[in-house]
Amino acid sequence: MICMGRKRGEDGRRQPCQARARVMWEGRWYCGVHDPERVATRDATREADYQRKREQAQRVYQAEQDARAIVEAVAAAPTQVALMGTKCRLIGNEWGELAEQVVAVLKEAKA
Ligand SMILES: [Zn+2]
Repeated sequence: MICMGRKRGEDGRRQPCQARARVMWEGRWYCGVHDPERVATRDATREADYQRKREQAQRVYQAEQDARAIVEAVAAAPTQVALMGTKCRLIGNEWGELAEQVVAVLKEAKA
């Protein structure tokens, strides 16, 4: 028996696979590559992989957007950030040092 599946030929058009069939599925024969169960598994794996990559790209994009929003907010109000840094330092909060560094970087960037 030969495979009832179809493959892409050298010219890019779909043509009969014609490989030696190994499994029967609903009365039709297929080779190992076109075995409908394996095709379904492969498609599901590919889909899951695509979704995972898409979600990861979405997280990276969101993180970049968040970072940009923070930089813009700080650049728009350096005095407030400096004040906040001083306040944080006064109450012994570690964010104070970070805020002061941010202000220093902004001053450097302007100069
Ligand atoms: Zn085949």
